[in-house]
Amino acid sequence: MTADLAPALPVRPELAGLEPYGAPQLDVPVLLNVNENPYPPSEQVVADIASAVAEAAHGLNRYPDREFLALRADLAAYLRVESGVDLAPEQVWAANGSNEIMLHLLQAFGGPGRTVLSFAPTYSMYPEYARDTSTGWVAGRREDDFSLDPDAARAAVAEHRPSVVLLASPNNPTGTALPAATVEAVLDAAAQVPGGCVVVVDEAYGEFRRRGTPSALELLAGHPHLAVTRTMSKAFGLAGARVGYLAASARLVDALRVVRLPYHLSAVTQAVARAALAHSDELMAQVGSLREERDALVVWLRERGLTVAESDANFVLFGLFDDRRAVWQGLLDRGVLIREVGPEGWLRVSVGTPQETAAFRDALVEVAGL
Ligand SMILES: *Cc1c(COP(=O)(O)O)cnc(C)c1O
Repeated sequence: MTADLAPALPVRPELAGLEPYGAPQLDVPVLLNVNENPYPPSEQVVADIASAVAEAAHGLNRYPDREFLALRADLAAYLRVESGVDLAPEQVWAANGSNEIMLHLLQAFGGPGRTVLSFAPTYSMYPEYARDTSTGWVAGRREDDFSLDPDAARAAVAEHRPSVVLLASPNNPTGTALPAATVEAVLDAAAQVPGGCVVVVDEAYGEFRRRGTPSALELLAGHPHLAVTRTMSKAFGLAGARVGYLAASARLVDALRVVRLPYHLSAVTQAVARAALAHSDELMAQVGSLREERDALVVWLRERGLTVAESDANFVLFGLFDDRRAVWQGLLDRGVLIREVGPEGWLRVSVGTPQETAAFRDALVEVAGL
């Protein structure tokens, strides 16, 4: 059949002509573009994951545990150690990456005729989840230093009456964490939205927050309309396993259980996540050194006269360049892949191993003439 005789495909009009979104996946020596943990799992973790998967394989003729309460209990135990917050397994939910968690949230609380509100610059996937669930998308503004003014946030919630507010903290691509008072201001405003409003704090980079920066997990008690999302993709060094999770009131989690696909979390995924969580001490030890590496990189960039956003994450947003594309390309030509993202003039680099960070610094000195 020739192309012009081929039947039309009824692609939704809002998707027509769109390309799939995603960071370039290029084969270069130094990958500092998607905020992964640069350290692969240790031999011991690999061995335990492998035997957990082998055990799960014996039962793969059966559908997996749909409620995965054992994994949810393990995640609750991890959060208790990480943030000092006590949660029941029924207050935890998991999915194939926190990206799928966000989709569950918008499937349950968004939809046609409803609005999701966020504050830009922020994670570029958020408008896509809104589009895919036919939820209206409104982006308020962050301040010039990428902080969020509590009064402006409160006013935006009152004006737009969203059913969901998405707050990334630490924010991607800026690294900015929100003070508890700002999240509380949004929670108060959300409680007054007629029909209700869920506030989602995306803490994908929560483990990298600096000492003294609180987690929104501490606000869960008393706020049944709060959801805090986390992931095993970043600090935990398990991006390839696709495990994201959320902590919230059991009532909020119950609404997500309605929209999830049947058996959405495979037995293999559950086994991998539980085996890795049993080694959380070891994995979290790396987070401390990545934090130090981040702080040193911020200092180094500032010493060379660059502007650097405050970062509570495992990446740094820096600039400002008249031609950021040329800087990005120059680094790539030297085998270092970073990310061209954020407001005009800025670039984002993930914190790698000391060797990778050194390669980045050397390349940047050459490219930008620092
Ligand atoms: C990386 C990232 C995620 C995590 O996505 P996963 O699907 O869990 O890998 C979520 N939110 C933000 C802001 C991120 O940068």
